[in-house]
Amino acid sequence: MAICDTCGNDYDKAFEVVMGERRGTFDSFECAIQAMAPACAHCGCRVIGHGAEADGTMYCCAHCARKAGVQGVDDRA
Ligand SMILES: [Zn+2]
Ligand SMILES: [Zn+2]
Repeated sequence: MAICDTCGNDYDKAFEVVMGERRGTFDSFECAIQAMAPACAHCGCRVIGHGAEADGTMYCCAHCARKAGVQGVDDRA
């Protein structure tokens, strides 16, 4: 049994996510995303795809990066 770091649910199929120095135990991907995924610097939504990174700042998409004033960012896989 393991307890989810985000919602506190005690779930027998909980899993661990390790991201660099950070690690957490979660009962669902939704909770893992809530705790671990970077937030878009422009709209604040969670970046769960490739996103767009410019100067170390994460955006959910090129549109948000452009809105934040970043030049020359295109969506790419
Ligand atoms: Zn949870
Ligand atoms: Zn965004």
